[in-house]
Amino acid sequence: MAATSRGTTPVPPDVRPRLTVLSGPSGVGKSTVVAHMRKVHPEVWLSVSATTRKPRPGERHGVQYFFVSDEEFDKLVANGELLEWAEFAGNRYGTPRRAVVDRLEAGEPVLLEIDLQGARLVRESMPEALLVFLAPPSWDELVRRLTGRGTEAPDVIERRLEAAKIELAAEAEFDTTLVNTSVEDVARELLALMEVA
Ligand code: 5GP
Repeated sequence: MAATSRGTTPVPPDVRPRLTVLSGPSGVGKSTVVAHMRKVHPEVWLSVSATTRKPRPGERHGVQYFFVSDEEFDKLVANGELLEWAEFAGNRYGTPRRAVVDRLEAGEPVLLEIDLQGARLVRESMPEALLVFLAPPSWDELVRRLTGRGTEAPDVIERRLEAAKIELAAEAEFDTTLVNTSVEDVARELLALMEVA
């Protein structure tokens, strides 16, 4: 297995979520779509995940991720502070629980951009969540994007392509699929699904 999934923390049943989960293979362009969407609609709140991955050039603590050590991540898990978490291509990623629950309780739309394992865990703990799969226009295009990013070592790219094969096969588990042919189109469709625009 390229990746393994772990625990999840239940959310109180009285929360009426407007929770949307955007998932799909690594390299498909999830974060580009989300970044574009937030430029157009800055009021849409996106959960900032914690990760043990090292920052890429230009990434800042608290913006793209909370970059934490293995020990800090262990503590977040032990204290039940993560709504879900998963190991992906050698690093751990998790959604801080409190911020998500607070916004859902306030009736605000919440967007998670997470991997397939995380999406499955959210489906278990919050069945009302809308699960959106972002698919690449083709396999070749996904390989091109993952390789062309230029930020990952060849063995990391290999692991991500392995994970992508597994992730692509899970499309049918999602409520809906958006094909990433144009960032603007997908961002618009996502906003419509979230009923923001
Ligand atoms: P990257 O290292 O490219 O930023 O992210 C790798 C993968 O981890 C992506 O598929 C991304 O969506 C996913 N990911 C980011 N944050 C989380 C999270 O909080 N939980 C889970 N399960 N996956 C996440």
